Amino acid sequence: MTPYDIAPPQERSGARPDSHREPLVDGFGRTVRYLRVSVTDRCDLRCVYCMAEHMVFLPKAEVLSLEELDRIASAFVALGTRKLRLTGGEPLVRKGVMGLVRRLARHLRTGALEELTLTTNGTRLSEFASDLAAAGVRRINVSIDTLNPELFAKITRGGNLVKVLAGVAAARDAGLRIKINTVALAHGNAAEIPDLIRWAHGQGMDLTLIETMPMGEVEADRTDQFLSLDRVRRELASYWTLRDIPLSTGGPARYVEIAETGGRLGFITPLSHNFCEACNRVRLTCTGTLHTCLGREDASDLRAVIRSGADDAGLAQAIRAAVDAKPKGHDFHIGRGLGPAVARHMSTTGG
Ligand code: SAM
Ligand code: SF4
Repeated sequence: MTPYDIAPPQERSGARPDSHREPLVDGFGRTVRYLRVSVTDRCDLRCVYCMAEHMVFLPKAEVLSLEELDRIASAFVALGTRKLRLTGGEPLVRKGVMGLVRRLARHLRTGALEELTLTTNGTRLSEFASDLAAAGVRRINVSIDTLNPELFAKITRGGNLVKVLAGVAAARDAGLRIKINTVALAHGNAAEIPDLIRWAHGQGMDLTLIETMPMGEVEADRTDQFLSLDRVRRELASYWTLRDIPLSTGGPARYVEIAETGGRLGFITPLSHNFCEACNRVRLTCTGTLHTCLGREDASDLRAVIRSGADDAGLAQAIRAAVDAKPKGHDFHIGRGLGPAVARHMSTTGG
């Protein structure tokens, strides 16, 4: 069964809630096989679209220990999750994160897990790349919005591009495959996008463009930041040959191949288009809250479940109940005077 198949009615929505073997299927028949885990809400950067300048971070007591993160993520693996992505905040600033990566990698060795990966801003990749590769990580996503050092420092509020590019080089040397993530910003990096694409493709890396999503309060007006990727695509197509390709990760990105650069470009367009019908993923925050939709306020408190002493069957049941209630889709809108669609920041949810 592919992740998009609709389960037969008798297997739908918690028909056998205590089974450990049935895959996780939501109330709309979508099989959930992908978990993103935000291991920390903290970060060494403050990207203007992601965080407020003076963020208030969570008290440490609210954050799950690495053992608790391992327990919940492993419960998902036991329920058929095939792909785990560690994210944040910045996952590589969490103390002891390599210990978590090594623990989770046991599921790769048993074959239960297909892929263990992470999304990082790259600032600490030089330090971690070879350990990640040795642990069994094969590919990572690195977020870079511009190759202009001054603009990079402005968008990230103080980030050092040289350090990030050194991290990318270290990851390549360690044999990790890299995809670059770039948030498209109307008055930020719009003019930089072709250069970024040329650079990434020149080194054999795919690049995915992302529309800004209205998550959490930031200083900037989202309407000013927003750049429609339909527009970017039209502009790129005026001088490059873009060919749609059927590559699908079960995620929201749609891909084209660019004949002139020989590389792949993804578009994540939650505002211009909504691809929720094929969504196969859910997100766990570093406090153990499960969000089954990026753009909705739905939340299930798995920390309360494990801290109340639930056994593995109880945890599995709580996960099934949460996934069963996964909303049909998000409803992002950006407009003047409109607040964020959800109050939590992307750095809390885990982008
Ligand atoms: N710190 C890591 C990084 O930057 O890659 C991982 C966490 S970050 C929240 C994950 C991704 O979410 C990044 O690619 C970032 O650019 C993106 N992101 C953050 N806030 C966003 C927003 N409001 N809209 C769209 N993408 C956002
Ligand atoms: Fe940090 Fe990533 Fe958010 Fe930038 S996008 S502030 S690097 S969590």
